[in-house]
Amino acid sequence: MSEKFDVIVIGTGPSGGAIANKCRNDGLNVAVIDSRGYGGTCPIRGCIPKKVLTSATELIDQNMRMRHKGIDSKSGVNWKTLIDFKRTFTDPVPDATEKGLKESGIATFHGQAAFVGAHEIQINDGQILKAEKIVIATGADPVSLPIEGKQYLTYSDEFLEMESLPERIIFVGGGYVSFEFAHIAARAGSEVHIIQRGESPLKAFDPDLVKRLVDKSEEIGINVHLNTSVKAIEKSTQGFTVKAEKNKETVTFAGDIVVHGGGRAPNVDRLNLEQGNVNYEKAGITVNECLQSVSNPDVYAAGDVADTPGAPLTPVAQLEAEAVSNNILKGNKHQADYTGVPSVVFTTPKLAMAGMSEQQAEDAGYNTRVNNMDIAEWFTYKHTNDDTAAVKIIIDKDSDHILGAHLLGGEAGELINYFAMAIQLNLTTADLKKVTYVFPTAVSDIPSML
Ligand SMILES: Cc1cc2nc3c(=O)[nH]c(=O)nc-3n(C[C@H](O)[C@H](O)[C@H](O)COP(=O)(O)OP(=O)(O)OC[C@H]3O[C@@H](n4cnc5c(N)ncnc54)[C@H](O)[C@@H]3O)c2cc1C
Repeated sequence: MSEKFDVIVIGTGPSGGAIANKCRNDGLNVAVIDSRGYGGTCPIRGCIPKKVLTSATELIDQNMRMRHKGIDSKSGVNWKTLIDFKRTFTDPVPDATEKGLKESGIATFHGQAAFVGAHEIQINDGQILKAEKIVIATGADPVSLPIEGKQYLTYSDEFLEMESLPERIIFVGGGYVSFEFAHIAARAGSEVHIIQRGESPLKAFDPDLVKRLVDKSEEIGINVHLNTSVKAIEKSTQGFTVKAEKNKETVTFAGDIVVHGGGRAPNVDRLNLEQGNVNYEKAGITVNECLQSVSNPDVYAAGDVADTPGAPLTPVAQLEAEAVSNNILKGNKHQADYTGVPSVVFTTPKLAMAGMSEQQAEDAGYNTRVNNMDIAEWFTYKHTNDDTAAVKIIIDKDSDHILGAHLLGGEAGELINYFAMAIQLNLTTADLKKVTYVFPTAVSDIPSML
């Protein structure tokens, strides 16, 4: 006999977990299913563990910068201890998340979920659950790369669990995961290569600031190989040999591990979506503005798995979760607003953005003023002997609104929130200049950027 629920949520990450809780708080009978530990990518094998490692290696950079400027000792990374520290944040997540869901009265199931009908889900080819509404919140997984020897790739979750740091690391692909991990590894002492097929890594970010970040990455010893396409990975007696093509010539790289940094794709493969009459494309579950499946109106999708204009980020998953919960509970009229959602590459220095790119603002026909500034000479950066900081702020001359903000620097991760706030709340540059800020802080630089 199958168990019946009001709502089944597949996936317990930032989107699925939030939807399950909200529906349960409103009195619905809810089931959640996850094939891995409860909590999803972000707290277990994404944002949180990554931030623990980047913050630690940032201290190495600060220490290096200030040597002979009043700081004497040289610091280093004890990788094993750092990973143990990271585990204090990640290890408790699955049990704590499941406990919280259970205590709220949500039925929890473990295993791979797959559709066996429009309202029916089977777990690991066994138990069948039925529900009036089904939410797909299965996130994303690394894409399968067309590379011979791809079985030798190390995945991001494995990188975050390594007991020791390899001496030579090769990253395949130039996305944010590669750059963040490369900065961690280089600061911790590894020889690092990033191999990027195209001309421009970090495509979502401002190309001028990306160029500066690439220059800075090379300056700290990361070898960034652009226009270089990985063809094969071979196991050798001393690790791995990566064979790539650059300008039609074969180039080889030797590494102890080869890390997949080639991007992630919506996790749809094992859901048997045809059985649920749920349409999908390469970009994820096909949904309308209310995040409802276009082919099965009783199915919703949220987070990385949904084909929406939102980037695959935790705050977007949360925005979409809010919309989906409201649509289930109060009727289909809620949409996620993606305006000004900020995004950060947690390298050292950090690269951040919110709102439109210069190109997007131009294409949209705005009458823009672009404040393009190298601010490394400003006190905020000089006093910690930091040599890399730049901003590009795109302002609509007609309305005085900020259309886009692009930042590079040690403070960019926090600073971008102020610009995201201005964009999301429709503040003008005059509004931002009116505020009295603490001096001397990075935020007190904002009026001078406008
Ligand atoms: C290394 C790394 C670093 C990141 N850093 C950041 C960051 O700094 N900031 C940021 O905003 N975002 C970051 N992200 C992205 C962020 O983790 C995701 O955007 C976010 O977790 C998406 O939430 P979600 O709910 O859509 O999916 P997920 O959190 O991925 O959760 C999906 C869940 O569904 C489960 N599942 C999948 N298929 C099935 C199935 N068939 N049956 C049952 N369960 C299933 C999975 O086991 C998983 O638990 C990072 C990601 C990675 C990999």
